[in-house]
Order: sequence, then structure tokens, then C-alpha cells
Amino acid sequence: MSSSQNTLLPNSRDKLLRDRAARVIPGGMWGHMNVARLPDGYPQYFEKAQGCRLWDVDGNEYIDLMCGYGPIVLGYGDPDVEKAVERQRGKGELMTGPAEIQVELAELLVETVAHADWAVLAKNGTDAMTACVTIARAATRKRKVLVAKGAYHGAAPWCTPSVAGVTTEDRAHIAHFEYNDVASLEEAVHAVRDDLAAILVSAFRHDVRRAQELPTPAFAAAVRRLCDQTGAALILDDVRAGFRIDMGGSWEPLGIKPDLAGWSKAIANGHPLAAVTGTDRFREAAQQVYVTGSFWCGATPMAAAVATIRKMKEIDAIAKMRTVGTRLREGLDAQAKQYGLQISQTGPVQMPQILFANDPDFVMGNRFVLAALQRGVYMHPWHNMFLSAAHTEADVDRVLQATDGALKAVAEQTS
Ligand SMILES: *Cc1c(COP(=O)(O)O)cnc(C)c1O
Repeated sequence: MSSSQNTLLPNSRDKLLRDRAARVIPGGMWGHMNVARLPDGYPQYFEKAQGCRLWDVDGNEYIDLMCGYGPIVLGYGDPDVEKAVERQRGKGELMTGPAEIQVELAELLVETVAHADWAVLAKNGTDAMTACVTIARAATRKRKVLVAKGAYHGAAPWCTPSVAGVTTEDRAHIAHFEYNDVASLEEAVHAVRDDLAAILVSAFRHDVRRAQELPTPAFAAAVRRLCDQTGAALILDDVRAGFRIDMGGSWEPLGIKPDLAGWSKAIANGHPLAAVTGTDRFREAAQQVYVTGSFWCGATPMAAAVATIRKMKEIDAIAKMRTVGTRLREGLDAQAKQYGLQISQTGPVQMPQILFANDPDFVMGNRFVLAALQRGVYMHPWHNMFLSAAHTEADVDRVLQATDGALKAVAEQTS
């Protein structure tokens, strides 16, 4: 592993690319991958990626604990997925109509996802979640959609976290409740009950900058019960957690089936694809709603999804991620204890969120991830991280070597 150079050095390739970008891209970078959100020293641009490793444009190598913010679930450049992509590309990608693989993928989703009687394919999680909401409204002929406070469901005006350019009317029929709080959900339902189209929930509470929370069985049951009582759709946003918790859907372990679910991120190991799955009750509405996009019928991401889902089942990718995730969590807990640091590690082990106690401004968190970065591990101070089936126990041990040094550095700077 090469020693980490400061990517902000005047002659670094990263700095030169940022300078060029600043002239032709507003702010130099948009969205969640803008490293202006991270402490100084993070590279913005990367040269290549393989397995669980990343190389920035200045040649520094990292073990990546972000997996492209979720899509990479079998590892970068998985040979079986890429072979399937090449095979399909040799025949056709975007054509004037869909390829056979579209039907194969829809069948595979219906077979894999427990609640699904049908599937519609798209490109982005935002597309999928917007389609879920539209289908729910078309089916129920009601308007109100209940959403958990602070939850992320995409970057369209009805749900984006930034209010710039958003009108009150864009959100006129969105109301809020507190995740995992049955009383607040009941109250929100009561306030709109004659006009309720859907309750929209994330697989678990994975809001940025806070500890993650798994849904309590009582909360999940209440969501289902309130939808059944009012005729509203239970929409599960499985865009982030999908295929990392349970291949059948993230609420399967709870025994709760959604009516509609949105998928993206891990579905095609980094190839652009999203899906909406639904039950027969919503089939007609899904047909009435006009959903499409210029690139939605591209065939290679569908081939990637078929290969990804098949391989994940074959190798039990979720069990692998749990094993390495547990090793990482236990190792970090032991290290934090050794250095007298209080950390919380929340959410499923395969999607870790690591926060320091009494660190509202992420001073310790930023120091920690930067020190880990300098030791060859790419982490995030306040967004949940992601493991993949390509992370081995040896990779985790290499991560733990880096975090040992990083936590020691934080302890020394804090005392
Ligand atoms: C990423 C994400 C989305 C939006 O997906 P895009 O593909 O970025 O449009 C929606 N919901 C959740 C929970 C997400 O994590």
C-alpha cells in the first residue's frame, strides 16, 4: 500500500482536476459524493477500483468502506457480473425495444422478493420511490403520503433534503411522523385518514449524522395495521438496504410485507438500475401510471442485475457481509475500549455507522476518518458505510490495523 499523499498539494492531480471542475461545474461537484462535506484531505477523483479497493488519481490505495455509497455489493468489477454485461453488450444495450433479459430480470425479482407479484424497472432510486408514490395515489385515489422525519427518499422536489427551488405545493401532501414512534405515526394517520394514499418507510432508520435504528417489531406491525385499516399502501424504501439485509426484502425478518417497494443501489453491483416491486392489488395502477425514461430499457444493467442477484444467492453474500461486519464491529469496540474512547456502532453490521459520543460537530469523527484515510482506509464520519461480499477477513484485519492507529491518534489529540 503506498503511503498516502496529501491530495490537496498544489501539484496533485486531484487538485488540478478540482481547479478545472470549479470552472465548468457549479461548486466543482454536486451531491452526496462532494468531498467538501468531508474533512480536508479526502480525494475527490479516483483512477480505478477493484474488489474492495480504490485508487485515487494520485496513486493512493484504499480499502473502501463506502462501496460507491451502496451500489457495490459483490465488489468492484466482479468478474461474473462483468462477463454477463459483456455478453449482453455484444448483442445490444439500448435498442428500440427491450431485450429478453428484461423479462428474465422481472421473473427473478418476483421469485426473489417475497411480496412481489410484478416488477417495473427504472434507473435511479429517486425514480423508483417517485413511482411508488404515484402508483399508490393512482390506486387509492387519495393524496397524502406519510414520511418519517429526516428520512432520505431521493432528490426530487417532493423529497429532496434541500428546500432550494422547492415550492410549498411540491410538498403539500407530504406529512411526517417519527420513525419507530407508534404514537406519532397514529397521530399522523389520524390527521389525514380520509385522504391517506401511503405510508412510506425506510428499511431501517439510516438518516445521516445520527445513530441508526432498526425498526422495532411493534412499529413495523403498526405501519402494516394502519395501512390495512385505511386502505393506504405500505411503501418500503429498500433502495439503500435492499439485498444487504435479506434477499426477500428488508422487512422479511420482521414478517411484514410491503405493498410497494423501491430498489436500486445494490441491485446490479454498480450498473445503473432501479426497480419497483408490487402486489397484485397495485398492478392495475402501475399499468395506468406513465412511467418511463430514455434509458430505462437499457439491457446491460439488467444483465448485471440478473448476474448479481443469482451470484448473491449462490455464495450467500449477505452471510459473508455479516461475518466481516461482525469482525469489524467487535474489533473496533475492543480498540475503542483500549483507548478509552466512547463510540457507538449502530445498524446492521454490514452497514455500519460509527459515531463518537459527545461529538455533535464531528470533531473526533472527522479526525478519526482522516487518520484512517491516511492509513489506507476510506471511511465516512456521518453517513452509514457499506461492506461488500468482496471484503475478506484479511481486509477487515487490515482495516483494524488502520483504525488502531487512527483511534490512538484521536485519543492523543482529545486528552
Ligand atoms: C440513495 C437513496 C435513494 C435515492 O436513490 P438514487 O438512486 O440516488 O436516486 C432513495 N432512498 C434511499 C433510502 C436511498 O438511500
